[in-house]
Amino acid sequence: MSQQAWSGILDKGEIAMKCRYGHCKHDSKDIPDGEAVHVGNAYYHQDCYREKQSIDDIIAVWCERVDDKPIYGELRGVINNLIFKTGYPAEKVLWYLRWATTHGIGIKHPPGLYWLMKNEKIAKAWEDAQKKTIADNWEFELANTEAPSGFEYKPQTTGFKRIIKR
Ligand SMILES: [Zn+2]
Repeated sequence: MSQQAWSGILDKGEIAMKCRYGHCKHDSKDIPDGEAVHVGNAYYHQDCYREKQSIDDIIAVWCERVDDKPIYGELRGVINNLIFKTGYPAEKVLWYLRWATTHGIGIKHPPGLYWLMKNEKIAKAWEDAQKKTIADNWEFELANTEAPSGFEYKPQTTGFKRIIKR
């Protein structure tokens, strides 16, 4: 099990472990049965691991598309400020950086990330992407589940699509 980089969720009954994430988001670092992510010798809460992965991805995208020899302390400092002080979700910072680097929005130095997160063009694209994800999920749920009796469904999907198409 520990040979694999990702061995998924622990089975019920295995010993609860301590979350290794330095910015653990939980009051207790103890991870309940069945909710730990096991990576190498370390265990993480699922949401802690997702955040850790997103931060690693931000740094990977930065090295690949912006600067392959960044000053890591500076880059990490800016990322930490955005996520742990300002409160942006790590996934959102990652999405913004990906969008910027694939849509010709220039960024050269880590403090540029502060400006990036306030960029209105990217904010608009992010909102549209969120709406699209919600609409897709609605469609998926509609196609795969039957509404329980007495459940009044007001379709949001077409509303979103209409907005997007205009
Ligand atoms: Zn944790």
